[in-house]
Amino acid sequence: MRLQRKLSNGDWHDDPDRMDLVDKAIEIDAWLAHPGRAPMTTRDEVLAYLATGQTIHHGTDWYAELRDADAIRPVQRPVVERVICSRCGASIPRVLAMSSSSGTVCPDCYDDASY
Ligand SMILES: [Zn+2]
Repeated sequence: MRLQRKLSNGDWHDDPDRMDLVDKAIEIDAWLAHPGRAPMTTRDEVLAYLATGQTIHHGTDWYAELRDADAIRPVQRPVVERVICSRCGASIPRVLAMSSSSGTVCPDCYDDASY
């Protein structure tokens, strides 16, 4: 568990001792509508909720959120299949590859129609 709160510039700031913010979140959770779950009433409930990677509001400002940094998984980038241009040897995403008489080429080589 690594409690973080969001700053007004959108960055997340480590704030391990701000249990007062967790208490605020409990206060606010009581009057926010939560489709699919009951309002949280204890710190343990909030911390368990944050441990699932969710964020929770502790105030009415857009950035007034808490999260558990340990629960945030790095965003998975989709793997882009790459191919080698048969003319210049550049590595390019397959979606950009063009078919030519000399094989699979990059857009630059394809545009260079002089070959
Ligand atoms: Zn090329």
